[in-house]
Order: sequence, then structure tokens, then C-alpha cells
Amino acid sequence: MSDDERTLGDRLGQKDEPINLGGGSSVYHPWPESERDPERYSTTDGEPPDPALAGYDAPAPKPIDPETGQHGAYWVLSDSELAKGFVRPVRDSYIHGKCGTLTRMGRKLAETYAREPKFYGATFCATCRDHFPVAEFHWDGTSEVVGS
Ligand SMILES: [Zn+2]
Repeated sequence: MSDDERTLGDRLGQKDEPINLGGGSSVYHPWPESERDPERYSTTDGEPPDPALAGYDAPAPKPIDPETGQHGAYWVLSDSELAKGFVRPVRDSYIHGKCGTLTRMGRKLAETYAREPKFYGATFCATCRDHFPVAEFHWDGTSEVVGS
């Protein structure tokens, strides 16, 4: 694996752990608050949203960890939502156009993108260590823009 194919898993040395990507900032609210049905949403860490945040209205269920630039957890669709079927292939890697590097994400995040391509308004670049609008990314090996 080359330097420009780093993944969060490599950074943390926890390849078997879910990789927290996707999600977004308050600037890129990916869904109307009225759709934030707790039955529809789950979190990458399987825990309820941080009570110090705005619960299901928060842009992410956990605050950003300054060590990684990522939120401690991200919203994903619940298992019952994912079970309704995917409308896109399940893809776990995308390229950030600005830096040209690949970021890989965990299974639930990849499945959430496959079920609901516009679920996330912003997503994480492991190299830039920040979130950017999904339109800045394309799926690895394709010219297909993330979120389209
Ligand atoms: Zn980048």
C-alpha cells in the first residue's frame, strides 16, 4: 500500500475496527431535521448520540476528535433501513479530488452510501484530515461523484 492509500485503520492500527468516515459538519446538513427518525438512524459506534450535542439533530452523534479530525462516531442508516436494499454498489473507497488520495471507510458507512447516496453532505478525507462536500470526491476506480 502506498502512502497515498492510507486509511484511518492504518493510522490507528485497528484494521478490524469500523472506520469512522462520512457524516458532516453543521454547514452541510445532509437531511432535514424532520426526517431524523431514531428508527432510521444508527451510529458507527452503536451508541446513542452524545447527550451534550443536539441528539438526533446533531450533525454527528459524537464531537470531533482533535487527534484524528474525525467525529467520534457518525450517523449511519439503521439495519432495518439498510435491509430495504441498495440502489448503488457498496463501495468503500473514494478519492478526494483536491489531494488525489484515497480514503477507505467502514462497512456500515459504505452500505449507507449504497442505500441512500445523498445521505451525507460532507465526508472525510484521511489525508487532509477534514470533512469536505461530497462533490469533491469520486468513487475509486470510477468517475462517479460521491453523493450522486
Ligand atoms: Zn484530501
